[in-house]
Amino acid sequence: MEPARRAAIRMSESLAALADRCVMCGLCLPHCPTFAVSGLETQSPRGRIALAKRIEIGVPVDDSTIESLDSCLQCRRCETVCPAGVEYGEIIERTARRLPRSRLPWRLRLLRRMVRAPGGLSRALQAAASVRGCVPAREGRWLERVGPPVPVVPGGPEKTQLYVGCLARTLEASAQRAVLSIAERLGAPITAALLPCCGALDRHLGFDPPAQTQPQRLIALDSGCIQSLRSAGHQVDEWCAWMMKDTARWRLRIHAVPLHVALWTPCSHAASAAPTLLGAMGMTISPLRGLGCCGAAGPNVLSHTALADRLAAPIIDELRQLAVSTLVTTNVGCAQHLRERLLAAKLDVAVRHPAELFLEAMH
Ligand code: SF4
Ligand code: SF4
Repeated sequence: MEPARRAAIRMSESLAALADRCVMCGLCLPHCPTFAVSGLETQSPRGRIALAKRIEIGVPVDDSTIESLDSCLQCRRCETVCPAGVEYGEIIERTARRLPRSRLPWRLRLLRRMVRAPGGLSRALQAAASVRGCVPAREGRWLERVGPPVPVVPGGPEKTQLYVGCLARTLEASAQRAVLSIAERLGAPITAALLPCCGALDRHLGFDPPAQTQPQRLIALDSGCIQSLRSAGHQVDEWCAWMMKDTARWRLRIHAVPLHVALWTPCSHAASAAPTLLGAMGMTISPLRGLGCCGAAGPNVLSHTALADRLAAPIIDELRQLAVSTLVTTNVGCAQHLRERLLAAKLDVAVRHPAELFLEAMH
């Protein structure tokens, strides 16, 4: 069924009808990262669907229900393996809207305000970086990456533009610069656009996403933003997939890179083209398995720090055993969380976006 028709049918269904499709078989449980860590039914897809049904029939929401639902990473791994076709993502987003807004810690409320103003988070991170010595060590390690953002210019729907995002605009500016340089050197320059936030954070927390501009043609680096941008009507290519659409334009412009890299595929980027692109560049790739999510999903790294650390731990162990010097990933949240965990573990592994490696390989 076409995605638009599927979305229309889904929107017309009540939350109860969506939840009733779950036959409680439990086949999704082994694929759920939060169930793997906690072993609790209430932190599994099946358990959360049961809680959603209770809320739907008017059972009062208590703190433990809020915790069970808010600790969901919204990675949707459960949805991809469900034999009954349960639309778990839709269920959890709609359920989050029924949770009290007062549940959100001040850090998330502040973050929401900053991402809703285009460029707001970037300006706030620049300001925080200037007083880095005064912030706690963990947050200080995040701020070490803060650098000048790429310049943005007004675009239009007729031009393909790079979507710079909120967090990535400051923390992944080097990857965004690489994308702009690569396009320029390949003779098809693109510009960077400052558009409203993709809305992924708002959807995760149960709010309406910010109003979007008219649909644009975009290239985006961060898999976390892409799904949200597409839901808002934009035509979005993930950068690795975009590069793999026409390899003839660059095959002779790069030299082989015989590097052994570890690859972390974000849960938001299951069908990633990154392995094909890195392979085409001559790299040997060791995919990391972890528990399916590194823990950075949505605002989880701020709201459920201990869970985020437990989910990152097996990935750090794999990296220690592989003894590679480079970890590649395609989402700013994963990159930043894993960088911080690597620093905490005193492991010297550089976390890079494929675009940075590609630029270095260009003649
Ligand atoms: S969500 Fe799907 S896989 Fe999980 S218990 Fe329900 S029917 Fe089974
Ligand atoms: S979205 Fe991810 S964390 Fe949430 S229930 Fe499904 S598999 Fe578990």
